[in-house]
Amino acid sequence: MKSTFQTIEGTSDLLPGAPKALVRTEVWHHIERGIHEIMRRHGFSEIRTPILEHTGLIARGIGQLTDIVSKEMYTFERGNTNYVLRPELTAPIMRSYLQHHLEQQPGVQRLYYLGACFRAERPQKGRYRQFHQFGAEIIGTEDPRADAEIIAVMMEVYRALGLLETRLRINTLGSAETRPQYREALVRYLEPHRETLTGVSQDRLSRNPLRILDTKVEAERKILKEAPRLYAYLDEESRRNYEALKRVLASIAIPYLEDPMLVRGLDYYTRTAFELEHDGIGAQSALAGGGRYDLLAPAIGAKKPVPAVGFAAGMERLILAMEGSGLPLPESDPFDVWMIALGDAAGEKAFIFVQSLRRAGLRAGLELTGRSMKAQMRLANRAGSRWVVILGEKELETEQAIVKDMVTGEQIAVPFMGLTQNLTEKLK
Ligand code: AMP
Repeated sequence: MKSTFQTIEGTSDLLPGAPKALVRTEVWHHIERGIHEIMRRHGFSEIRTPILEHTGLIARGIGQLTDIVSKEMYTFERGNTNYVLRPELTAPIMRSYLQHHLEQQPGVQRLYYLGACFRAERPQKGRYRQFHQFGAEIIGTEDPRADAEIIAVMMEVYRALGLLETRLRINTLGSAETRPQYREALVRYLEPHRETLTGVSQDRLSRNPLRILDTKVEAERKILKEAPRLYAYLDEESRRNYEALKRVLASIAIPYLEDPMLVRGLDYYTRTAFELEHDGIGAQSALAGGGRYDLLAPAIGAKKPVPAVGFAAGMERLILAMEGSGLPLPESDPFDVWMIALGDAAGEKAFIFVQSLRRAGLRAGLELTGRSMKAQMRLANRAGSRWVVILGEKELETEQAIVKDMVTGEQIAVPFMGLTQNLTEKLK
């Protein structure tokens, strides 16, 4: 059977027991549980913001010159309002922080999130139009330990899920005051090479020259080897902060690579920038990225900067990386008990038992289409059930059910009276 409609390109259904791990619900539950647990341990609390936001929030928060705002937003208009399907969550979270005056709460805010994001990109492996991010933010301090803490909690999620071969690259982007000087020096250096640059980079040279630094084009990389380094233009405090960050990371045994060419696509970053990569996921090797974004708050209307640092990670890329590393991923969720009933009267009785088992906390199932014993047994096997309970006419008469141990194959008769308790105890 087929509907006239299919999922939109670049979006997917998640299905229970799907053969592909990327779209198997059980795999998503597994990584979501892991993320919630690591965040809980690190003292982060979950924030959920709406999927719909005002387009202005994203346009101002992320910056007009970014790829996201200039060409990847899903927007629509109703009445006089322009809406966007959020392409990321940092700007929405800062909006929420300001809207609810979270700065008035004692201490810093440690917030984390999980959720769908939307970007109109050309779909390929690891790049989708609806994808899912998880991430965390620490808002309210400039202390470089917060930057280290964000990196640490991010690394811990991957470590806890078994993904060890990741590569962390870090850099500092300096302050809003010193960046224009560096930008100027970079443009001055690149201008004579303009003809050798790709069209994209030529465009960036006038609009957003720092983005040229993370080019993958070999000829451009060669030119950049001699380019002025941002580090030489750093203000004293940015330099001190960067050194402190490196010290803290070393003190908690987090290995990193310094990469002076690392810049982030988003405009609001200052000082710390980082990216986490993995080789097993093809061209889209970035698992996660983040940094400090003290200037986001004023960009969306706050009277002054709000010190904040965070990371954002792709859930699909996490799954692809786990799969690429051969890590075990959950198949389908096995049942504790499967009820098999033969005949209408047994069917009704079985239904009562199943509900009683479920109330007692077991994962219990039964078939509702009145199939043969053989067909029901096949379903029990597919459900991966530990125990199978069989009810036929004879069992109704004797008020004893047959309980089959699916591991040993052993069968015993258990009186109806103590059936739920008997199974609950077996599964303890
Ligand atoms: P960004 O917000 O662009 O810094 O992205 C953070 C992370 O989200 C990236 O490192 C990717 O893991 C993931 N990501 C970004 N865009 C997409 C996309 N279109 N499809 C899948 N994952 C994405």
